[in-house]
Amino acid sequence: MQATAAVLRTPDGPYALETVTLRDLRADEVLVRIVGVGMCHTDVLPRTPAFIAPPPIISGHEGAGIVEEVGADVTEVAVGDHVVLSFDSCGHCANCHSGQPAYCETFLVRNLFGRELDGSSTAVDADGNAVGARWFGQSSFATYAISTARNTVVVDKSLPLELLGPLGCGIQTGAGSILVALDVQAGSSVSIFGAGAVGLSAVMAAKVAGATTIIAVDVHQARLDLALELGATHAMLGSAPNLSEQIMEISAGGVQYAFDTTGVPSVILTAIASMKMTGKCGLVGVQLGDLQLDGSALLGKTLLGILEGGADPQTFIPRMISLWQQGRFPFDRLIEQFPLDQINEAEQSSLSGKTIKPVLRP
Ligand SMILES: [Zn+2]
Ligand SMILES: [Zn+2]
Repeated sequence: MQATAAVLRTPDGPYALETVTLRDLRADEVLVRIVGVGMCHTDVLPRTPAFIAPPPIISGHEGAGIVEEVGADVTEVAVGDHVVLSFDSCGHCANCHSGQPAYCETFLVRNLFGRELDGSSTAVDADGNAVGARWFGQSSFATYAISTARNTVVVDKSLPLELLGPLGCGIQTGAGSILVALDVQAGSSVSIFGAGAVGLSAVMAAKVAGATTIIAVDVHQARLDLALELGATHAMLGSAPNLSEQIMEISAGGVQYAFDTTGVPSVILTAIASMKMTGKCGLVGVQLGDLQLDGSALLGKTLLGILEGGADPQTFIPRMISLWQQGRFPFDRLIEQFPLDQINEAEQSSLSGKTIKPVLRP
């Protein structure tokens, strides 16, 4: 099967559209024609020097599309189904068995290596050379992607499929962190650091959860304005003096939950300091740098590193869709669409803070 894919050849180079050849499906796999694919900050990781998934690679891990073919053993997904692709998991480790595939014991190798577990590749370029094409079990910056039944979630055909891809990672990460991992309670207070796609999804989810004080913090005023429209009760610039003291004042002694999407050590310290004792702080930043905690900073508090919101995509993606249908989770307001051949412009627009969630249309 031939596909057109955006291939990253060097860490600092542009993506270039190339024709690649995907190998035949294995028994548990699914071939999906991609209709829309979100761009997530994790997609820039192969640009990091010496990263575990080096170029050449096809990234993209928020694919949505239509099933073209299924492997011999696939029963959960059928040809013609509309699907959202999410992260991959094994299905048989202890954490997968207990409904926590986001903490699958093979999460890193399945999602962040860009290759098969044995190091081989599912795709070759025009010269027959291997290209990484297993990014988060999909590599969906392409017209076609190979996923597995486990990371393929069937959705109703009446839904706007081109918009649904980001539910597979970034939006799931923000909403799942609030509704699943931190389990934010009605009537509580939450501070959310970073109002990008993950943080704004967290703001919407905190409102869904019934939090009554929702404080958004960001460095872009336009994003804070959107956070207020989406459910934040307070918005604060990250440059504000005495930020943690101001948050403690707003929340009468400290918030019950804090959620950091920035991964910046100084911001995480502010997030922890802004909580009252018994507070829970969730972190989703991939690179935490050298986070140095004073011994007393965590007294009576919980710090939780979260992957994919702690959610199971097979149940959580339908929950987000139901909330969207009710008008309570308007994630589509975060999205700006680009043709796939404008992937470099989309990446720049995202990195500059102009576009919150680019969705590429092959
Ligand atoms: Zn597992
Ligand atoms: Zn992601």
